[in-house]
Amino acid sequence: MSFVEKPKRSIWTWGYQQDEPTNSERQKHAAELSKKIGIEIIPPKIPLAHELNLRTSRIKIPDNLSSYCFTDNYERSLHSYGAERELAALGKFPNPPDVVAHPSNEDELAEILDWCDRYNYVTIPYGGGSSVVGGVTPPEDKGPIVTIDMDQFDQVLEIDEISRTAKIQAGIYGPELERQLKPSGHTLRHYPQSFVESTLGGWIATRSGGHYATNHTHIDEFVESLKMITPSGWWESRRLPGSGAGPNPDRIIIGSEGILGIITEAWMRIQKRPQYRATAAVMFNSWENGYDAVRQIAQAKLWPSNLRILDPDLTADSTGIDNGMSLLIIGFESSDLSQKWPLDQAIEIAKSCNGIVTDDNIIIDDGTGAPTGRGGAIGAWRNAFINVGGGLTAGLGMVTGTFETAITWDKWPEFDKKVREATQAALNDVCGGGTLNCRFTHVYPDGPAPYYTYVGNYKKDGYFEQQDAIKKAASDAIMSAGGTITHHHAVGRLHKPWYDVERPELFAESLKAMKKVCDPSGILNPGVLIDPA
Ligand SMILES: Cc1cc2nc3c(=O)[nH]c(=O)nc-3n(C[C@H](O)[C@H](O)[C@H](O)COP(=O)(O)OP(=O)(O)OC[C@H]3O[C@@H](n4cnc5c(N)ncnc54)[C@H](O)[C@@H]3O)c2cc1C
Repeated sequence: MSFVEKPKRSIWTWGYQQDEPTNSERQKHAAELSKKIGIEIIPPKIPLAHELNLRTSRIKIPDNLSSYCFTDNYERSLHSYGAERELAALGKFPNPPDVVAHPSNEDELAEILDWCDRYNYVTIPYGGGSSVVGGVTPPEDKGPIVTIDMDQFDQVLEIDEISRTAKIQAGIYGPELERQLKPSGHTLRHYPQSFVESTLGGWIATRSGGHYATNHTHIDEFVESLKMITPSGWWESRRLPGSGAGPNPDRIIIGSEGILGIITEAWMRIQKRPQYRATAAVMFNSWENGYDAVRQIAQAKLWPSNLRILDPDLTADSTGIDNGMSLLIIGFESSDLSQKWPLDQAIEIAKSCNGIVTDDNIIIDDGTGAPTGRGGAIGAWRNAFINVGGGLTAGLGMVTGTFETAITWDKWPEFDKKVREATQAALNDVCGGGTLNCRFTHVYPDGPAPYYTYVGNYKKDGYFEQQDAIKKAASDAIMSAGGTITHHHAVGRLHKPWYDVERPELFAESLKAMKKVCDPSGILNPGVLIDPA
């Protein structure tokens, strides 16, 4: 196999070039916004790749690597950022990688990694580039940089129907993975919100969370075995359904964020596609009653695939139901069994917590395979959830963002209060006000994973200082109230200061020792997870 060109991604916003909003759409949006808030907003001119004046590449590509290594503006600007592209929309690419490599097979991957190691080039493994924590953003002042994009490793190689597992290459994107599994009637059933623009290798490297709310949802649960190349050689684990033989080698790789090696393929646990579905929308007149119902449903171990509670602000924002109530979406699915019974049980629990559910908000499909979550309030929420990005606000300096965490139920109400207070205070301080809402993305019997979204009042200039101040206030509050700095967005470079507080010191030392073995020269992703040696 040799290099195959893929659809072009946008260098300045989330998505593909074909989906970028036009200049007139951006102008129109800015004008509407200006009118709404009474401040003139002018969208910046979006740069074209060939117009960029990037720093000259500091690396000369040897002939034997030239068929899959690139130094053109498109490749280098695209790989300058993960999903945080606010600077890209302003045409700023101060630290692009010097070379972007697209190896197509293990030999080429081994060859390029060996070359990077020999010359001590900073080496960044790259999946879909959807990192929101600076995981693929080249570090400054560390010398020449090579980004290794895994997009050519895009095949489902083998399906084991009996064990219900599949051997899948790491650079495959979500939709392509599902497309290749579908003819056999299988699915991985792992849908992070970034599904369309992220890869299996990225999911494994970041311990991604899919958008099934309970039970098996983190990628960890689907990995049967892994293969990874490191500067010191190959790391491959044995295919096993379970094992008690010492610490699990896969669990060390899952979440290693590209600092130990580059994942090339994995045997993944797959499943039959769901045929039976059941969904209900329940309203609560208080956020507290709503999340209490969620706790009881999770602790009853009914394992709904969806158990998403939206606070009143988010309910109003994403569904238009603006009456101070919280919306709880409950969904179940199965390949083999009717889901009416578990849905009935969950509804009974919700009603016992003062939940209100009408018959038209209960939809059960008993085996035709039809989706049940596409209409009414649930459908409105689903559309708002899927249609992320868009590029209309890119470069406008709008202070919006999200952060997510997890916390045990005993601490939850106080935690929510403290995190909201600290974040709102920062919004008031640096933006002169703003809004904050919350939903649960995942729920465990011992605690929820809350996800907060903030929007600061528009203020000209100061975008980066404002974002930093809000992020710091929220993260400090999360840490001091006992939560984790991330439930599923990974650590990268952005979250590292708080990860340093969260993890045991001896664990950091052990991770450094492991990095020394796998990556003795420390070329892989310096500054991610641990301090570079
Ligand atoms: C709009 C949006 C929604 C999101 N929703 C979710 C969500 O629901 N759940 C969730 O978990 N995350 C979510 N994310 C975060 C992000 O999509 C995940 O972290 C995802 O797993 C990254 O996958 P990727 O292929 O894009 O990896 P990249 O962004 O390319 O890389 C992420 C990290 O993994 C490393 N890496 C990538 N590929 C490999 C490999 N083959 N071997 C070794 N290391 C590698 C990189 O060096 C980097 O440190 C979201 C992001 C955005 C922008």
